[in-house]
Amino acid sequence: MDFLRPSTLEEALAAKSERPAGVPIMGGTDVMVDLNFDRSRPPALIDLTRIAELREWSLEGGALRLGAGVSYTRVIDGPGAHAPALAQASRSVASPQIRNRGTVGGNLGGASPAGDCHPPLLAAGAVVELASVRGVRRVPARDFYLGPRRTARQDDELITAVLLPRPAGPQHFSKIGTRNAMVIAVAAFALALDAEKRTVGTGLGSVAPTPVRAEEAEEFLAAEFDWDTGAPPAEPVVRRFGELAASATRPIDDQRGSAEYRRHAVGVMARRALAWAAAEYRGGLGGGTRCA
Ligand SMILES: Cc1cc2nc3c(=O)[nH]c(=O)nc-3n(C[C@H](O)[C@H](O)[C@H](O)COP(=O)(O)OP(=O)(O)OC[C@H]3O[C@@H](n4cnc5c(N)ncnc54)[C@H](O)[C@@H]3O)c2cc1C
Repeated sequence: MDFLRPSTLEEALAAKSERPAGVPIMGGTDVMVDLNFDRSRPPALIDLTRIAELREWSLEGGALRLGAGVSYTRVIDGPGAHAPALAQASRSVASPQIRNRGTVGGNLGGASPAGDCHPPLLAAGAVVELASVRGVRRVPARDFYLGPRRTARQDDELITAVLLPRPAGPQHFSKIGTRNAMVIAVAAFALALDAEKRTVGTGLGSVAPTPVRAEEAEEFLAAEFDWDTGAPPAEPVVRRFGELAASATRPIDDQRGSAEYRRHAVGVMARRALAWAAAEYRGGLGGGTRCA
């Protein structure tokens, strides 16, 4: 196995173009597990850790540009203030050691349906930036996940960044697992209210072959939510929102949980997230989230 260590993005893109079967490695918290268990033996590893711009983040007109190589620890400490649900998800990942090494780009690269970044990125309307020697293109997160661990990224492309619009309302992430730390989600749910556009975003994890949105639930809540006052939604609205969120799932039974439990869990998380978000909306400012 060859080990390539490009020191610039240009070199890395050239390496990926010449060796499309080469596997990029950033934090290595997924790649090294696969190698250690002999699940894969790629012809080359392309180490991205020397590429400074992948570890940078910036604000562009209030929107967050998060380099693919920004670790969870750094998301929590810095840019997370501009992406509240992603910050909550980052806090829930693994242990401090894994959060120090694991990256948002690596989560996107692996595209596990259980990856914790995906629900908040979907709910927030994030866009994934992909680059190759052919150029740069931007793919909305909602079009990025194509199948189990399969994404819109072409073999010669690298993920360079993820772009998140300025949050214009409350955002929440919740995750159910068998314990509080070091756990892969049995089910996860993210909600984002956009007070300016009066739209609702959702993201569901671990409950379908890919991370998914609950589009019917989004449309229903956007029509029913009292955007002027943020008054607590009536009980039938809360219940229906939970039902529609649960109906967007296509879960399986596995050792972590049954399909029935996962579907139920999404309904419960959706109802709770709505209650938290509505309260925060009424409060105006809270948890680093800006409301209109
Ligand atoms: C003990 C343990 C606990 C964990 N707990 C959680 C958890 O709670 N929640 C969770 O979501 N995940 C968890 N993970 C999985 C892992 O930590 C995350 O998926 C993490 O985000 C991977 O990031 P990384 O930088 O380490 O990726 P890497 O291992 O370096 O790469 C992961 C994948 O992405 C690809 N890749 C990396 N960077 C790029 C790039 N720039 N462009 C294109 N492809 C790229 C790689 O080729 C590979 O396929 C855990 C892992 C371990 C070992």
